[in-house]
Amino acid sequence: MHEIQVHNTLSGKVELFVPLKKNLVHMYTCGPTVYDFAHIGNFRTFVFQDILRRFLKLRGFHLTHVMNLTDVDDRIIANAAAAGVGIRTYTEKYVQAFFQDCATLSVESPEHWIRATDNIDSMVELIQRLQKKTYTYDSEGSIYYRITKFKDYGKLSKIDLTGIQAGARVDNDRYEKESARDFALWKAPKAGEHFWETPIGPGRPGWHIECSAMAMKYLGETIDIHTGGIDLAFPHHENEIAQSEAATDKPFVRYWLHAEHLLVEGEKMSKSLGNFFTLRDLFAKGYKPSALRFALASVPYRRQLNFTFDGLQQATSSVERLRNFAARLKNERFPAGKPASMAERISKAANDFDAGLSDDLNTAQALAAMFDFVREANIAMDKGEFQQGAVKAAQDFLATFDKVFAVLEDNDAEKLKALGYGVDDGGPDDAAIEKLVADRQASRQRRDFAASDRIRKELSDRGIILEDTKDGSVRWKRR
Ligand code: AMP
Ligand code: ZN
Repeated sequence: MHEIQVHNTLSGKVELFVPLKKNLVHMYTCGPTVYDFAHIGNFRTFVFQDILRRFLKLRGFHLTHVMNLTDVDDRIIANAAAAGVGIRTYTEKYVQAFFQDCATLSVESPEHWIRATDNIDSMVELIQRLQKKTYTYDSEGSIYYRITKFKDYGKLSKIDLTGIQAGARVDNDRYEKESARDFALWKAPKAGEHFWETPIGPGRPGWHIECSAMAMKYLGETIDIHTGGIDLAFPHHENEIAQSEAATDKPFVRYWLHAEHLLVEGEKMSKSLGNFFTLRDLFAKGYKPSALRFALASVPYRRQLNFTFDGLQQATSSVERLRNFAARLKNERFPAGKPASMAERISKAANDFDAGLSDDLNTAQALAAMFDFVREANIAMDKGEFQQGAVKAAQDFLATFDKVFAVLEDNDAEKLKALGYGVDDGGPDDAAIEKLVADRQASRQRRDFAASDRIRKELSDRGIILEDTKDGSVRWKRR
């Protein structure tokens, strides 16, 4: 096994990963702002952190991983007030949709899901600590953080602080580097909007104090890993450091890991460009959860992932190839024997797989290790050179692979059905069916019965029944 290296945004370098407590990793992930359905960009980041947590577990670490649901946010408060409902009522639909989306993409649940609305007391306490240490000042009922007092301000995002005017403030939670200012820890109530009565006055927390307070409450004052998308490095994470370290005088986070943003067909995803997709948008077009997970995971997290429908189609084929290979191992009978060469080949593949993931989660390298092996093993099988004695080792390697990538189980149809998509939406068109039937015939001619069975099952899942006739042709009908 290889030493695990990760890129730490704080140092700007790839570093050896060693948690503070042997074998136990404390990790915090900024969760979704639950004012809408999450989009595939969000899930690029959530799949990245899922690959990270699964790999750490595979390598024997125990995890205490916390993910928050940002359910206190300017947009949520305004939208809930406009809809005339409470915050919890307003956000519940999106919270449940997010949980469903995570399950559909096989994103594991962290050890703790937490909500900002359940942790207001901790936020107030943290603000009081900062008040005592004179990092704050009040203005018109709000409380601001004085960034010039924190000498390390900017160390994560490396912003240039020259020219910052003392006392210039910003009330929005999201702003650009160029407008680095004193930011709001606590916001005065606005007419008609929800607020909390607290010892520091009526109002609501800013977004940044939410994560500092919750991360430290659940994970302690110094945590091992904090993840998020790259857009969160400034101001959100910079402000989390300023708040937490000013209060505790201890390092807040040891490794900061940020995922690059996903683009769609080379452009920033945005509703106005018409290239904005939720998971459900893609499922409604007939794409499978496993293919989307594969597509999101296949590009290493620090590379910009350019999402395209071609890419998604390729991901679909890649998952199929792996499932076909797993089915071959399970269903075919190979000649007896246990050649050392195949055992060595498998252990090389497993070693390359581990090397890839250990190298700052290089998923592309890890996948190459798997696909190179699958190609060679398929060729050996076709030539009758793959022997029964190698099956177990190959299956073990697939199982190890799937602890991280989680795409092998053939459960897309059930998952889609649970979300209300699937076989009843008209099903595949005639041309698509003819193509699959022809693919199945070709598999049968190659005597690749695992593949032909899989195609029969796929068609059956989509409501198509096949009848093999005596003359060797195939008839199909819709159920
Ligand atoms: P939000 O719900 O806006 O707080 O975002 C949830 C997570 O998704 C954060 O970690 C963001 O950095 C991340 N995120 C937002 N847009 C993208 C994108 N286009 N690509 C990758 N991650 C993103
Ligand atoms: Zn956060």
